[in-house]
Amino acid sequence: MINLKILCSGTPTPSEIRWGSAYALQIGNEWFMFDCGPAATYKLTKAGISPLDVTNLFFTHHHSDHDADYACFLLMRFDQSIGKEKILNVYGPPPTEQLTKRLVGEEIGAYWHDYIARTNHPLSLWAYQDRGGELPREIPHINSNDIEPGFVLNGENWKISCKRVEHVQPYLDSLAYRVDMKNQSIVFSGDTRPCEALVNISANADALVMECARLDREMKGNATAQSESSALDAGKVAKEANVKNLILTHQVHYLDEYKDEVINEVKSNFKGNIIWADELMTIKI
Ligand SMILES: [Zn+2]
Repeated sequence: MINLKILCSGTPTPSEIRWGSAYALQIGNEWFMFDCGPAATYKLTKAGISPLDVTNLFFTHHHSDHDADYACFLLMRFDQSIGKEKILNVYGPPPTEQLTKRLVGEEIGAYWHDYIARTNHPLSLWAYQDRGGELPREIPHINSNDIEPGFVLNGENWKISCKRVEHVQPYLDSLAYRVDMKNQSIVFSGDTRPCEALVNISANADALVMECARLDREMKGNATAQSESSALDAGKVAKEANVKNLILTHQVHYLDEYKDEVINEVKSNFKGNIIWADELMTIKI
């Protein structure tokens, strides 16, 4: 069964109901996170998932609404560790490795001082032992990787693949991810205009988590149409790819006011099941 938690389902504009991008998918006993936008760690906790339960993190791209909580996530994972958890694997287009180094890399990381303080001061060593850790307290290793379109990761009963989608190149590269599990599959579009690669990677998927930024009429004649997907686009992609369930996300902060209109626009092309993502929603398919 697909077990998906919607953590962040908005854009860079903070609002009370949606902000940034982040999703958690359960695979076996582990959680895989896709993007780590603003307040993702807080929302992960509200969803009942410890940062330590997340073993793999995938970035679609490095706009801040998709990665601004990365430092918080890494530091809370370190802070709550007892030194026996799985190493965190991180994948994404460049500059995933550079960002990781600049946040927590030896000497150069902006938060390196936190690692040093917490692995040395008696207060932190006491807290570490109190929750079950054994000294010495080590600095965590993070396996961060810049990946290219076509990268494939295989696990036990699952496979993750990716394709390049079209957002704000050449400034930032963008990837869509497909997760194939035993009998089911789910795709994360990331941010993209409708494109052939997205249709291909989404082919016959059980679920597509799809950017649905605006109504089509808002995007006519301006730059958004070159970089984002409208409700009309989301429906077209889902129809062409023949997905079963379309999960609409990354709505601009006022789009909830137009929800009925948006759904009708999607339905004009797509006849499958439509799910309107709200933050902290659990989707089981
Ligand atoms: Zn975005």
